[in-house]
Amino acid sequence: TEEKFDAIVIGAGMSGNAAAYTMASHGLKVLQLERGEYPGSKNVQGAILYANMLEAIIPDFRDDAPLERHLVEQRFWVMDDTSHTGMHYRSDDFNEPTPNRYTIIRAQFDKWFSRKVRAAGATVLCETTATELALDATGKVIGVRTDREGGIIHADVVVLAEGVNGLLGTRAGFRKVPKPEAVALAVKEMHFLPEEVIAERFGLTGDQGCVIEAAGTISRGMAGLGFLYTNKESISLGIGCLVSDFAATMERPYTLLEDFKNHPSIRPLLAGSEVKEYAAHLIPEGGFKAIPQLFGNGWVVVGDAAQLNNAVHREGSNLAMTSGRIAGEAICAIKTRKRPMTRENLSLYKTMLDESFVVKDLRKYKDIPALLHTNSRNFFMTYPQLLSQAAQNFVRVDGTPKIEKERATTAAFIKARSRWGLVSDAVRLALAWR
Ligand code: FAD
Repeated sequence: TEEKFDAIVIGAGMSGNAAAYTMASHGLKVLQLERGEYPGSKNVQGAILYANMLEAIIPDFRDDAPLERHLVEQRFWVMDDTSHTGMHYRSDDFNEPTPNRYTIIRAQFDKWFSRKVRAAGATVLCETTATELALDATGKVIGVRTDREGGIIHADVVVLAEGVNGLLGTRAGFRKVPKPEAVALAVKEMHFLPEEVIAERFGLTGDQGCVIEAAGTISRGMAGLGFLYTNKESISLGIGCLVSDFAATMERPYTLLEDFKNHPSIRPLLAGSEVKEYAAHLIPEGGFKAIPQLFGNGWVVVGDAAQLNNAVHREGSNLAMTSGRIAGEAICAIKTRKRPMTRENLSLYKTMLDESFVVKDLRKYKDIPALLHTNSRNFFMTYPQLLSQAAQNFVRVDGTPKIEKERATTAAFIKARSRWGLVSDAVRLALAWR
């Protein structure tokens, strides 16, 4: 007789692993398909791991997960071409027994997570691409077709955890291709340096880590951010901007990364490093308004494929893991009640997700993507330049009376944006941030 699964999970990234692990450890018969050679081989992340969301799935993950450094310091930089104005937050409170955030390397981390998924009892097939969802005459998803020999693999429910491109869901008409202004293209490099050099450069001891998030002229007026994350023996450096902005400006991601790398504030931090990896990946950044239909007859969608990404806080993997876990729990609950995986019953997933931080956070920032998209030049070019000039004016001692310096700074802001423009930018930002 033909083998049938309780659930098929498409993708072995953060969301897929969370869903597969949750269901398999509740005793469901789970098949997970991953097109990559191994889990993580196709995945790109900064990467910061948020511990609480993994703890909710695997409480003792610290025992054997491949973690790089735990973060004790976060730097926020606003940059112009020659300087950065920073806010640094460093706290000894982060040297806690169960640290809150770690840097990770996704290729290693995803392999570890996948071993847990297998140990929980799921069947994981790598180098297998799901090519199509199989539907019955009523439009209910009954399984998937793959690029391997054989016909449909049947399951009661399919969890689409296929990442930002979400081809299966799009092909089946469950969602539209995300708009160019709702996706960022990020490029990233790994710079290798000895452990002690990293520790010394960033003032770290043991497995402490530091991250820098940067905005400003580095994105040349496009809506985007740069980042620098310390791993044990490497530094991840990257920058990403909205695809619509790349298209409009004809800027090239790699040139942006080169310039970021050579910025006088960044260059000394990377000096002497050996670059080993280069990667590019999309990030869904449309926020709340870009979330597609999350469930239907015989299917749910989780993680990046569901556009669950908080661009303001640069959180994605935690939303992916949480949505995967919640989808898994909802499916288990329906199964326990011996109910079919219909659209009606699977709406439980959305109900549960709406109550979680995932949807609450995205709802809070629902107007930010549109604001940044339509005002990128002001927020990512004009204001960073003004702030840098103001900071320099403040610290440079040249005999100019302070009152004149202050007037010059105010005049520069008004000249660049007008009084009305300044007030309106502040009000719009405050309203969108609420
Ligand atoms: P993915 O991790 O993309 O996994 C999808 C998987 O599905 C892949 O393994 C893929 O090979 C597989 N797949 C796709 N289609 C098929 C198919 N048809 N058949 C079989 N398999 C398929 N988030 C953070 O929390 N912290 C960070 O620091 C951070 N930094 C980032 C930096 C960059 C440069 C980028 C690009 C993203 C970053 N993110 C970060 C976001 C984070 O990486 C994503 O939110 C997260 O990886 C989403 O997980 P996912 O499982 O939904 O998708």
